Amino acid sequence: MRAIDVHAHPSTRPWYESMRPYFEALESYYKTPFRVRTDEEMAGEFLRADVGAMILAWDAETTTRLPATTNDYVASIRDRFPGAVVGAWASVDPWKGEESVRELDRAVRTLRLAGVKFQGVAQAFFPNDRRFYPLYEKCVELSVPVQFHTGTTGLGAGTPGGMGLKLKYTQPIHLDDVAADFPGLTIIACHPSWPWQSEMIAVLLHKANVYMETSGWSPKYFTPELKKEIAGRLQDKVMFGSDYPVLTYERLFRDWDAEGYPAAVLDKVFLANARRILGLP
Ligand SMILES: [Zn+2]
Repeated sequence: MRAIDVHAHPSTRPWYESMRPYFEALESYYKTPFRVRTDEEMAGEFLRADVGAMILAWDAETTTRLPATTNDYVASIRDRFPGAVVGAWASVDPWKGEESVRELDRAVRTLRLAGVKFQGVAQAFFPNDRRFYPLYEKCVELSVPVQFHTGTTGLGAGTPGGMGLKLKYTQPIHLDDVAADFPGLTIIACHPSWPWQSEMIAVLLHKANVYMETSGWSPKYFTPELKKEIAGRLQDKVMFGSDYPVLTYERLFRDWDAEGYPAAVLDKVFLANARRILGLP
């Protein structure tokens, strides 16, 4: 296996329905037309790329009024395509209150999902809002990591008012509060956090329980600071992610190779860090 991709969206009908109004903006942001795949086509793409993907559920029902890509669905894909899909992340809607905590418990204990991912822009909440701390307490109880979207997003990008979506929720410094208040919680920052790259690096260096993954960006466009830290102080903290299907593996691997990182660093980013941090075989 060439890489574990810790951040892949299902390119299938359920995800399309969860995101439908955002597709036009996403397609122009990433300059790629989207095509709905079957489950089998998606798994085939992971296998051909020699990637073990971790796919993401999606639940932002309260704020977007769109149907969820359910935890049951991503668990079923993982079970049907074990060679291609090595794990799946739960999503719970933080505004559903106690129900979201119960669903997180069920997603981990019953469906064996790897942890939970939040998308603060679509779900419209600050990670350090104490009303949502019961969700993180549950993660600690279940010994699973939590992921948060950081930095800008393709959702609503380039449209008037950004389709009502607000970027303030995704500033990395909010994760610093959660990391300080939950030292036993593994926190993963999704994406390279632009335009708050330096802020994210500061949190990563200060909090041993915070990690990051690189999805949604070709390394070609990382800031010089991040490029340097990946080969240096952050080499044990960065995991490979794609944001499939908006970026292709062919392009990502080509661009990673072109950066000229030592093989030992690439091995950590592509495989070893995810195995260690997420406890994968
Ligand atoms: Zn994503």
